[in-house]
Amino acid sequence: MPADITIERIIHPHVLTCAPETLLSEAAQRMMEARCSSILVAKDGAIVGIWTEQDALALDMSSPQTFHSPIAQHMTSPVKTIHVKTGVGEAALRFREEKVRHFLAVDDNGVHKGIVTQTDVVISQGIEYYISLREVTSVLNRRYPIIPDTAPLGEAVKNMRTGQLDAIITEYSDGSYGILTERDVVRLISGDKPLASVGDLASRPLICVPSDASLYHARNLFLEKHIRHLGVSGSDGKLLGLVTFADLLASIEHDYVQQLRETLKEREHSLAISQQHQRLAAKVFESTFEGIMITNADNVIESVNPAFTQITGFLAHEVIGKTPAILSSGKHDEGFYRKMREDLGVAGHWRGEIWNRRRNGEIYPEWLTINTVRNDDGNVTHYVGVFSDITKRKATEEEMIFLANHDGLTGLPNRALFVERLRHAIAHAHRNREKVAVMFLDLDKFKQINDTLGHHVGDQLLQVVAQRLTTCVREDDTVARLGGDEFTVILESIANTDDVPYVAQKIIDSLSRPMLLDGHEITVTVSVGISLYPADSEQSDDLIKYADTAMYLAKKVGRNNFQFFIAAMKEQALPRQDADA
Ligand code: GH3
Ligand code: MG
Repeated sequence: MPADITIERIIHPHVLTCAPETLLSEAAQRMMEARCSSILVAKDGAIVGIWTEQDALALDMSSPQTFHSPIAQHMTSPVKTIHVKTGVGEAALRFREEKVRHFLAVDDNGVHKGIVTQTDVVISQGIEYYISLREVTSVLNRRYPIIPDTAPLGEAVKNMRTGQLDAIITEYSDGSYGILTERDVVRLISGDKPLASVGDLASRPLICVPSDASLYHARNLFLEKHIRHLGVSGSDGKLLGLVTFADLLASIEHDYVQQLRETLKEREHSLAISQQHQRLAAKVFESTFEGIMITNADNVIESVNPAFTQITGFLAHEVIGKTPAILSSGKHDEGFYRKMREDLGVAGHWRGEIWNRRRNGEIYPEWLTINTVRNDDGNVTHYVGVFSDITKRKATEEEMIFLANHDGLTGLPNRALFVERLRHAIAHAHRNREKVAVMFLDLDKFKQINDTLGHHVGDQLLQVVAQRLTTCVREDDTVARLGGDEFTVILESIANTDDVPYVAQKIIDSLSRPMLLDGHEITVTVSVGISLYPADSEQSDDLIKYADTAMYLAKKVGRNNFQFFIAAMKEQALPRQDADA
């Protein structure tokens, strides 16, 4: 099948038109001059009817005065129309089904765009394949009567009409043949003086092809000579009959229409499937909770879905025509976007977390996937971005990270975070040639409080201790709870080591102030061990161990005091041993 073009490509835009009161003879004259097989009748700019060569046969040839009657009396009305966007294949089917040879092509608004004929349609369909395989004898038509050239014209036309023939053969007295066609009848109507016999009007001689010629050859003659009938002569030169353009079309119609139907069916099927896909895609686009943004190859936004509006707060018309920069949060540098463009160019997609800005100015994190869409030639046509708002997920993540690094009872950093902070503090101090102090604290006789007042009072006490410790140090310093009644403190950026005992004493004093818990006035004391970076060690593990060892000494010498680690304690700085009660 040839490419599926529409009839718009093959219509005759300049159509012959005349007024309803135009005389038939005049209309026929104009058809002859313009070599048109039809004329349209127009009134007040609207097409009201059509008169064709075929209609000419309906006239009473014995009363030529009818040739001078208005065309409105003879035209076919209304004119069958066909939409200009109709495919050529469909048009071929409609010609066959509606048994007409002309359609008026109209657009969406019913405005007429021209005439399309059956001949145009069939020729445009590439029928060569079918007709080159057949000989003219396959469509030889012996139905056409041969009448003498002297027969009266009226009788010939009546013969044609009643026999539903579009032509008649005439034999001249010298044995040659001529042919009288609908077109000749139109010529007759256009002329002033009526002719008496068939021989006067017939075209002579009848153009003939040998019976073994191919239909392809016949087709070329039809087109070349602008005729619709050819005589077929046998090997002895005798006339066997006619081959007509209509018969040629009919002969191929079976195969041709069959194939056409198949093609149309296939097309309808694939159209239905693609429409279904389109409907599904539209549904997904409309109803998904993920925001979708489609840009063209120049990164200009072409469409967004309702979820996009839901997440960003921007309505479609506020972003269409703009670039995604409208969402930019300013949180990412040029390098981030450059990498994104590179990935899109190389891999065809990009995936990751990005901070964007909502219409109300709020900055939010989204998980974004961008895919490149290319056409058959491999050129980028679109980018499709699909994203979800991960504000909640991030908050949960952050909460989990917090929980993993903090003590549930006091909210202070736990051992893991304390160790990390200490390492960080050491690295920082190393770069800046500063000192760090690590304090190891253990409450004195805390068990007794638990035992006498209950575990819940002990818990409250631990919370108060946490608060008081925090107020004793600078904001940058770290207070952590290692577990039980053990706390640690990291003092950073120490200018003068003399400040360390000052802070230790401050802690001891602060904790020993009575606290009111559950109606009981309670006093607790603390023992503190201190190690120093870099004097005692440059290793975090050692510093913790040494502070613990010093704390053990503080317990030993009576509790409620602080002790610095001294090198002499190194031997005791083994894995933790319980202090004496
Ligand atoms: P010492 O002066 O030698 O430190 O005596 P102590 O009674 O404080 O004994 P130690 O530090 O060895 O024991 C700490 C106690 O703290 C053990 C346990 O009963 C209690 N404890 C540990 N974790 C918690 C807690 O989360 N809440 C409460 N209320 N008590 C705890
Ligand atoms: Mg204790």
